[in-house]
Amino acid sequence: MRRRIWAAVILLAVLALALRLITIAGDLPQLVTAAHFEELRADHPRMRAFLHRMPKGGDLHTHLSGAVYAERYIAWAVRDAQCLRASDWAILPRPDGAAADQPCGGDPSIVPIADAVSGPRGQTTYDLLLDALSTRWFLPTPAIPSGHDQFFGTFGKFNAATGGADWQATRARMAEMVADQLRQYDADAVQYVEFMVTLLEGEERRQLAQAIGAETEPAAMLAALQKAGLAQSVAVRAQEVAELVGQIDVLLDCGSERRNPGCGVTFRFIAQVNRNGAPADVFTQTAHAAALIRAAPHIVAGLNYVGPEDYRVSLREYRTHMKWIGFLTGKDVPVALHAGELWLGLVPPPDLDFHIREAVEVAGARRIGHGTAIAFERDMAGLLTEMRRRGVTVEIALTSSDVILGVRGKEHPITTYLKAGVPVVLATDDAGVSRIDLSNEYYRAARDHRLGYERLKSLARNAITHAFLAEDEKRRELDRLDRSFAELERSVADEQPWGVWLRAVVRGVVLGAL
Ligand SMILES: [Zn+2]
Repeated sequence: MRRRIWAAVILLAVLALALRLITIAGDLPQLVTAAHFEELRADHPRMRAFLHRMPKGGDLHTHLSGAVYAERYIAWAVRDAQCLRASDWAILPRPDGAAADQPCGGDPSIVPIADAVSGPRGQTTYDLLLDALSTRWFLPTPAIPSGHDQFFGTFGKFNAATGGADWQATRARMAEMVADQLRQYDADAVQYVEFMVTLLEGEERRQLAQAIGAETEPAAMLAALQKAGLAQSVAVRAQEVAELVGQIDVLLDCGSERRNPGCGVTFRFIAQVNRNGAPADVFTQTAHAAALIRAAPHIVAGLNYVGPEDYRVSLREYRTHMKWIGFLTGKDVPVALHAGELWLGLVPPPDLDFHIREAVEVAGARRIGHGTAIAFERDMAGLLTEMRRRGVTVEIALTSSDVILGVRGKEHPITTYLKAGVPVVLATDDAGVSRIDLSNEYYRAARDHRLGYERLKSLARNAITHAFLAEDEKRRELDRLDRSFAELERSVADEQPWGVWLRAVVRGVVLGAL
């Protein structure tokens, strides 16, 4: 009798094991890839190479002007005969009506950039200029005491090379910048990007803002803008961004086959609003962005507030800004917001405990940029639960948080968000200024936060699931991503010795038993 019971128990165990093996058979390439990835923890160069090859879905948080490496800006500035001011390494436009023998005007410290980076000292100047236009080799000095200041200071220095405050010049340059970026993302196994760009500049913006006059109520401010021609301005801009997409296609030489580098990367724009302007200016940008997204949702997919969150205007007006965003975007305009890109000491405690919550609850943000200061929010646990329930996604940029806030390693809340079930994506923020790429951010997540292959794969999928795309577009992109992953896993699994397969099977069986 006893022997029969034992035989039955053993038979049941064998059956359960066989059943489990059949269940995991379909997942075997993924399990083997995950087991291989764990081996790579002891070999960082190989882990980097693996992550470069791994599909990374999308980059949902990248500022176009901060994404371009300084080498490109210098090349464009030389081509356009722009000038360089040696005192602060700022690229300047060529002054109108300058004499032929003084193309950059009479100030001897401002010289043609082409001259500055050529000749016997040209390489030295070029290297120092690259450092000034990025965070490369940055060391604090009394003049620039923090990574935060160096980082934000670079934008003013290369602004002229991006087209400056002139919309038509910016538009022409944007096409080149986007084309460059798409090629780069292609090489980095990224299939989808949302670029933050300024789509309302200069005189047009100033005139619209002026129309607001002394109005302070959002409804009255919006009415003033509408009377001043908001709809016409938006219609023209919608047409121009559609043309811009066509120009990018031409620059990449995509044609109908879409085989050239960059042509396979889907992209959208996010209209960015500089949060540190005067009230009428910020309101105007927000209203214009919301209207543009409604007019051209397949090109301009969402809105974001940019500029240092810790600057005085942003801190003082934060609650007002959140109300305006809620009012102007309603429920139909997708909103992502930089919120909680702060830390204790950077700002006083009263400014630390409500930014993320108000971005979610008042402005209706579907995604939060950074969210680094979550630990300082009132009722952090309640907020995390609410973010999970609403599906509010956190766009985490590990290098950016390190450089700008000095927050890294265990201080960074990425694990807190993941444990709370809040959707997370990895993003570059400003790959050119920080001199990184998206693979590097995956590498940091694996190295510093011990994320494994399956987790990284889920973050890559999040970057499509939480993209500001229509549902049918998301399905298409997800199919594409799943195909890329299947291809990678098949090829990685084929390369592995039997020991890795065995470990993968054991792990699959054990995970199933838990
Ligand atoms: Zn950002």
